[in-house]
Amino acid sequence: MRHSIVAGNWKMHKNAQETTDFLNELIEKLPSDKEVEIIVAPSFTNLLIAAKHLEHTNIGVAAQNMHQAEGGAFTGEISADMLTSIGTHIVLLGHSERRQYFKETDSILAAKADTALKHNMRIIFCVGEELKDRQNKQYQNVVYYQLKDALFHLPKAAWENIVIAYEPVWAIGTGETATAEQAQEMHKFIREQIEYQYDRDTAESVSILYGGSVKPENAREIFSKPDVDGGLIGGAALHPDDFIAIINAV
Ligand code: 13P
Repeated sequence: MRHSIVAGNWKMHKNAQETTDFLNELIEKLPSDKEVEIIVAPSFTNLLIAAKHLEHTNIGVAAQNMHQAEGGAFTGEISADMLTSIGTHIVLLGHSERRQYFKETDSILAAKADTALKHNMRIIFCVGEELKDRQNKQYQNVVYYQLKDALFHLPKAAWENIVIAYEPVWAIGTGETATAEQAQEMHKFIREQIEYQYDRDTAESVSILYGGSVKPENAREIFSKPDVDGGLIGGAALHPDDFIAIINAV
């Protein structure tokens, strides 16, 4: 069911010791009364540490990526079975850095989504336009095709396990945030497209997160919008105090 989520995407930051230190501090300082799902996404090498550390908490652990194949000759890759076997049942897919630097296309992402769902994993699926798309007023079109080509082949029931993260590429790591109105406009648009493809109940039940330079200072305003159900946080998720401040802004 649709609910608030704050997820931290650590990208290629934090070694094993730093992961342990961060999680100890997070567990110690986290308010127990917030009605928000909290997820951290460390790098592959720290997933087992995080899963073990967070076993008896309600903080979830997500991988930042996975391969679409079940296994085989794919040097350097990680499968869904490997992730679930260490207690990682959530995966980020389609992050713009994966699309841009690792050439992940919508059809690869469709296959990754199929594999993740087959393994009963939840997906945080990222979409978002580049600056030129916004300037050319193509931003809704771009996001529509990202959804359609990677996710709209899925049956309705699959959407119980999908969270969408809208991350405009021009706002990631740039300090440039989408305004709360820009975020709301796109989140509403995304929900409408899910409704047209499936139905209203499905659309209303999907959590849609905003990501891109979310900080303690701007989180409250962005999260106050009706179709914004939380955030996918990069830089500010690396510091326990900032991450907790963002959680408290929900
Ligand atoms: P920043 O919060 O650092 O802009 O990163 C956002 C992001 O890419 C989260 O996945």
